[in-house]
Amino acid sequence: MNTTIADRLSIAQSRINQAAQKCSRMPNEIKLLAVSKTKPNSDIIEAYYAGQRLFGENYVQEGEQKIIELSANFPDIEWHFIGPLQSNKTKVVAEHFDWMHTLSREKIAQRLNDQRPPAKAPLQVCIQVNISQEDTKSGIDAEQVMALATQISHMPKLTLRGVMAIPTATDDIQVQQDEFSKLQRIYQHLQQHFDNIDTLSMGMSGDLDVAIANGSTMVRIGSAIFGDRA
Ligand SMILES: *Cc1c(COP(=O)(O)O)cnc(C)c1O
Repeated sequence: MNTTIADRLSIAQSRINQAAQKCSRMPNEIKLLAVSKTKPNSDIIEAYYAGQRLFGENYVQEGEQKIIELSANFPDIEWHFIGPLQSNKTKVVAEHFDWMHTLSREKIAQRLNDQRPPAKAPLQVCIQVNISQEDTKSGIDAEQVMALATQISHMPKLTLRGVMAIPTATDDIQVQQDEFSKLQRIYQHLQQHFDNIDTLSMGMSGDLDVAIANGSTMVRIGSAIFGDRA
């Protein structure tokens, strides 16, 4: 690609602005999470100098390494863990990340809470909901979200901020619409019962418009900013 990371970030930002405009929302209600998994620190630094502060990582060890290497010089980067997490890896996320989007089990929540260093602010978490029509195993069923949210609300080193989903991979706008509106209803229901709920983490390159029309407050974009992954 001839374009730079800064160019592609600004294109992504204009897509967000346009999608917001189409549904009469303020663009600044929607945050851009730059998904930097598999990409080198030099790419993250380039995005940083273009103004980007929120970065998403999927793999525990890779994320830990990047945070250790970058946090001294770039302390205002906000690090989001967005990958699947096994219970034997929770300590790394608890000790290094600022956010965790893929929480779907009480056991993992309890470990993250217990392992969060006392000196650090609470880990900001989203519950991952399985809204997909595909039979994936990632995320908790919609009916169980409130129970997990109640458990999390009793954990002092976790702050529940909202919900996240990875929808069915499809170009079918109607399927996207159904799934995103389902997640939005869950989000609104949470807002009625808990404080601090302000994050609806949904929307990627291919479904940005539908996600934003359904209230997304954080879109996750990787390859459109950093290029294809090997
Ligand atoms: C990789 C990933 C993204 C970004 O995907 P791209 O196709 O690179 O834009 C977004 N969300 C999650 C959960 C991911 O794992």
